Amino acid sequence: MERLVYLDHAATTPMRPEAVEAMLPFLTERYANPSGAHRFARDARRAVDEARDEVAAVIGCRPGEVVFTGCGTESDNTAITGAVSRVGGRALCPAAEHHAVLHVVERLGGIVVGVDAAGRVDLDALADALDDTVAVVSVMAVNNEVGTINDLAAVSALVRERAPRALLHTDAVQASCWLDLRTLWPQVDLLALSGHKFGGPKGVGVLAVREGTPVDPLIVGGGQERDRRSGTHNVAGIVALAVALAATDAERPAETRRIAELRARLVGGLLAQLDGVRETVPPELKVAGSAHVMFEDIENEALLYLLDEAGVCASAASACSSGAMDPSHVLAAMGVERSWAGGALRMTLGRTTTAEEVDLAVEAVVDAVRNLRARGRTPVAP
Ligand code: PLP
Repeated sequence: MERLVYLDHAATTPMRPEAVEAMLPFLTERYANPSGAHRFARDARRAVDEARDEVAAVIGCRPGEVVFTGCGTESDNTAITGAVSRVGGRALCPAAEHHAVLHVVERLGGIVVGVDAAGRVDLDALADALDDTVAVVSVMAVNNEVGTINDLAAVSALVRERAPRALLHTDAVQASCWLDLRTLWPQVDLLALSGHKFGGPKGVGVLAVREGTPVDPLIVGGGQERDRRSGTHNVAGIVALAVALAATDAERPAETRRIAELRARLVGGLLAQLDGVRETVPPELKVAGSAHVMFEDIENEALLYLLDEAGVCASAASACSSGAMDPSHVLAAMGVERSWAGGALRMTLGRTTTAEEVDLAVEAVVDAVRNLRARGRTPVAP
C-alpha cells in the first residue's frame, strides 16, 4: 500500500503488534467457547478472566465491574437505555456528545443541555436541568471532534447534589489514550471504552458498571457477563483489547508529552504560514492528540479531497457519522459561525505519528488551502 500520512487516530487506530499477536491463538487453535464446561472451554474462560483483571487494573475498578461489549456504541446505548429501563425517569446529556449518546437520549425523549464555546457541558444549564426525574446523566470525558476535556469532578458533584437518584455515565472512548482512567472512574457509575481507539481490534468494547448500579442489559440471551451482556464472548477481541489497553496505559505519560509537541508543531506550522485560520479550542483545554483548526471561507469537503490526493488522511466532522459533510453538531452547539465551521479540519495524532508525517501534513494543508483560495479568487474561464 502507498505510504499515507495517517492523522485520523480519533476515527480508529492501527492495531498494536502485541495485540495482534495476543489474539491470533484464539482465532486458531484456542477457539473454544468460554461458556463450556470442558477443559478446552476453561482455557478460553481463563483468558477472558485474565483480560478482565488487566482492564480493571487500568480503569481502577474491580474485575467484576468490567462488562465486555461489542463496541463503544453498544456500551453507551446499554448505559443510558439500561438505566432508564431499570430505574425509570429521564436521560440527560450535553449537545456535543457523540451520536452514540445523543441519539439515544433523543430517542428516549430526554433532555439535551448546552455547552460552552470550548464544547464543555455548561454547568449552569446542567444544574438547572437536574432534578429527581433524571435517571441517568451522560457526559463524555473527551470530545471526539474537538478534543475538549470535560470536568467530570465538577459534573459529578452537581449530579450527586441535585439529582442523587441519577446514575452518571461517561463515554471515555476518546480519553483512553490521553487521560488516566483511574482519575475518571471515582466520579462516575458507568464508563464506556472502545477497543479500536487504543490499538485494539474493532468490534469489542467495555462498559464498566459500578457494583450495585441498577442497569438493565441491552442484549439478553445466554446470560454471559453475569447477565449484563449476553452473546458468546469475542475471546480473541477481548484478549487483544486488554493487551492494547495495558500497553497504552503504561506508555501514556511519555506518549502524551511526545504527541503534545507534535501537535504544537502541526498547529503552529499552519498558524505561521496561513491567514484566516484559527485553532478551535485552546490546547490547555484539550487532549494532546487532537489538532482541530478552522479555515475561514473554505469548504472542508474540497480541502479533504485535496488532502486525500496528497496522501493525508484527516477528517472534517467525526468520521463516525459516516463521511457525511453536514455541518458538525458539535461546532453548532459551541456557537461557531457557519463561515468558519464549514472549513473545520480535524487531524488526530497517535502512537505511530512522527515529526516527518507532521511536516508533510503541514505542507499539504498549506498547499491545499492556498490552492482553494487562489481558485476562489480566479474567475472561472467561460
Ligand atoms: N463515543 C465516542 C466519543 C467515539 O469517538 C466513538 C467512535 O468514534 C464511539 C463512541 C463509538 O465507538 P465504536 O466505534 O466502538 O462503536
